[in-house]
Amino acid sequence: MKQAIVDYHQDEELHWVAELACGHFQHVRHKPPFINRPWVIFTEGRDKYLGYELKCKKCDSGAPKDTCS
Ligand SMILES: [Zn+2]
Repeated sequence: MKQAIVDYHQDEELHWVAELACGHFQHVRHKPPFINRPWVIFTEGRDKYLGYELKCKKCDSGAPKDTCS
């Protein structure tokens, strides 16, 4: 299921995590050459991707919502 990015936070290892409209979190790593998301490093890039839809595997598997600890 595709869900829009509504916000971001960083985890304890300072990786960026997108908060999706469904309440699930998803890492949005920039890890070339496999995962190429240079936009996640910059504030402007992240702002630009607000509303961008990511495929949420957690929705597909019916996982409970994620919460910030
Ligand atoms: Zn979800």
